[in-house]
Formats: sequence, C-alpha cells, structure tokens
Amino acid sequence: MRRPESKLGPSLELYGHVDVLLAKGRGELDVLAQAQRLPGARIAGEVERMSHAAVIAELAERVCEDRHPVDGVYELTVTALDELARETDPRRASAYFLMQALDLLGYAPQLSVCASCEQQLPAKPAAFSPAAGGFLCDRDAPVGAPLVPVAAIKVLRLIASGDLQTYRRLKLEPALMDDVEHVLTTQLEHHLDRRLKSLQFLHDMRAHS
Ligand SMILES: [Zn+2]
Repeated sequence: MRRPESKLGPSLELYGHVDVLLAKGRGELDVLAQAQRLPGARIAGEVERMSHAAVIAELAERVCEDRHPVDGVYELTVTALDELARETDPRRASAYFLMQALDLLGYAPQLSVCASCEQQLPAKPAAFSPAAGGFLCDRDAPVGAPLVPVAAIKVLRLIASGDLQTYRRLKLEPALMDDVEHVLTTQLEHHLDRRLKSLQFLHDMRAHS
C-alpha cells in the first residue's frame, strides 16, 4: 500500500518495473525498505492502456500463490508491460500476453488441427470451443456455432509461434482484434475458477463506448 508522504512513493507508480528490498514484517506482509524504478517505458494516463495493464497484473497475481513463483510469469509480465507501454494499440500487446500466458499455464488453444479429431484444419473459418480446447472441424463443430474468420486464426497462430517481430509489423483492424481477443479471453476464462475483474471491466468499457 502506497502512502503519499512516503519517500519511496515516486518509485512505485502503478505498473512500473521496480527493484525492491523487502524486510520481514511482523505479520504476513513484508516491509518495503528500498525501491528503485528500473528503466523502461511508462504506462500512464490512458484508461484503455491502464485497463490492459490491470489484466496483465491481475493474471500474474492470480497464477502465483504468495511466495510461490511460477517459472516464467515474472519475465512474461515484465515483457508484456513493456510491450504495452510501447505499442500504439494496447490490445495488440494484451493479446500477445494472453496467448503466452495461456501457453505458460498449459492451456494453449489448439490452432492448427481440430481439437476433437485432430485432423488438419482447412484454411477456412472455424468454430472455437474453449471446452474442447481449440478450433473444431466442420464435422465436430456444433450446428450453428459462430465461426472465427481465417484471418483471425492466422493471427492467433502467429502469436502462438512467439514471432513478436512479425506480429508488430502486421496491420490489424479493430474487428480482427475483436475476434482474436474473443478467442483468447474465452479460452482463459474457461480455465479460471473466477473471472478476472480487470477483464470484466475491459468488456464493460467496450460495451459502453
Ligand atoms: Zn474434427
């Protein structure tokens, strides 16, 4: 908890990357003895960018129990917040983070073969099923299930490959990002016992804008 009069305050702005020295406190909480802000871009001022940062922070916190770090979550969180600060469209950075986080948690969606029969998916729109764990071929998709366009499936595959350089160069229309984001968030929410509050906030914000 930040106190405004604290000397350490300026180093602890929201979503900044800091190096901290903690002293063992009397109870469950540690005492912050020193804090230094590490170099990097800043995330501030824009509601949408801040909301995406909140999703990243909430998910990182959710998957790591107190004092039991999960391998890779720290690195991924730092990279994602940095990318979020640089990216002109915060949703792009957020989508990249969600895919890497799903992969890290062992919930990466099946994108190239049918999640049910494992046959190669043809290059056409396909239904996505979080329960099945990925896209489904025509035979396995429920009748009338909404189809995700091929362009969105291709973007998801690129993100899953981890090729951030190519991903950064892609031009992505908002409607395409809607589809990409929808797949990632439904997959994530299927595997979380509770919804992420920050993700709900993001959905609500969109619905009202
Ligand atoms: Zn199938």
